[in-house]
Amino acid sequence: MHMSIRARADAYAAWVRALRSSHTPPPLPTDSRDPLGVLARELTLLVESLAGREQQLMWLLDVIGSLEKGIRFDEVLDHIYSGFRGLIPYDRIGCALLRDNGRVLAAAWTRSELGPVCIKAGFEQPVSGNSLESVFTTGQPRIINDLEAYLAAKPHSESTKRIVAEGGRSSLTCPLIIDGVPLGVLFFTSREPGAYTPDHQAIFRQIATQVALVIQRSRSYDDLLASNHRLVEQTQRLHVVATMDPLTGVLNRRAIEAALSRAWRGWQEAGTPFGLIMCDIDHFKAVNDTHGHPAGDAVLRAVASCASSIVRPTDAFGRYGGEEFLIVVNQCARQADVHALANRLRAAVEAVRVPDLGLDVTASFGAVHGSHADSAEALVRMADAALYEAKRTGRNRVVLA
Ligand code: GH3
Ligand code: MG
Ligand code: MG
Repeated sequence: MHMSIRARADAYAAWVRALRSSHTPPPLPTDSRDPLGVLARELTLLVESLAGREQQLMWLLDVIGSLEKGIRFDEVLDHIYSGFRGLIPYDRIGCALLRDNGRVLAAAWTRSELGPVCIKAGFEQPVSGNSLESVFTTGQPRIINDLEAYLAAKPHSESTKRIVAEGGRSSLTCPLIIDGVPLGVLFFTSREPGAYTPDHQAIFRQIATQVALVIQRSRSYDDLLASNHRLVEQTQRLHVVATMDPLTGVLNRRAIEAALSRAWRGWQEAGTPFGLIMCDIDHFKAVNDTHGHPAGDAVLRAVASCASSIVRPTDAFGRYGGEEFLIVVNQCARQADVHALANRLRAAVEAVRVPDLGLDVTASFGAVHGSHADSAEALVRMADAALYEAKRTGRNRVVLA
């Protein structure tokens, strides 16, 4: 049955209207070989290609959207790996970044469904003299659709050797460039030869800048995290150096005095009770005189290590002077508890054996409860006086202020 020209033109107009209102239009009769039939065929092809481009655009928007989800370098590359599915064929994506002012390209990230990865972080190649140079200068993605043939022509290309060994047969090498400055490369690799077409180059070019920017941002973020981490470590090390007595490893005088001030404030402001113990090694001068200064140092270290291991982690143990130590006993309600701790310390020091010296080490102790004075300084004086009393009455003793 032949429709009149008029009827066919009406049918086309209805078809175009349906298309415009985005209803799926019925197929156009394209069997006639007259000019209208040719036009119908061309229109049908145009619609198919537009639909393909629209789909591609949606995918590209999806990729861009998914890039925003990642912050860290690895996350961003993972999103790229899943995002480009449907747009570009691949069984592996690698990302390499430029180093040393663009002189070296270093593998930074790989994800692969091919064989075992042979190009991974740590693999580096000089850019100069490498065929990658042209990728950066032209800014255009490069297709190698037969990697085995490429390797046969360039048997010394280490990266090609490795990618072929992994099972790659064709590749699309996409430069990452920001404001004309090359950042690195994304390598798409397929197990199929001939996987890449100019369409794939064009697709990548459309969002190349966004991809490069997001990758650069994630690198900066990772760098920031790393330097922040270093800063925290440095601060911790500095804090240790500033508060530690280098010979014994316990708190130094400034730090133990600070601990006493804190305890005093806690007592004044919140009524948190505490105790104070002063300790002095007995006849220490004789150790130095008889065995030498290094032996004296060894005794100091042994006493400090033994005694500081007995106090609770919440207490503070510090070297107050040459062979004098101060212990701030935090959260200590009763004077009897300060006394008991001082006695345990005394017994522990008495048991200290310094290897190779065969020395008997003892110490004397003065103990006081925080509630017994009206200033931190007065407390120290009371502990000192009690310690003096312990020395006067025979040493290796504890006296309570
Ligand atoms: P007492 O029983 O009355 O406390 O007698 P003592 O000998 O322990 O006390 P004295 O205060 O007379 O001597 C302390 C000695 O500690 C003198 C000093 O040379 C020594 N000394 C101070 N700091 C250090 C140090 O870092 N290492 C060594 N080896 N000796 C030190
Ligand atoms: Mg002394
Ligand atoms: Mg002494």
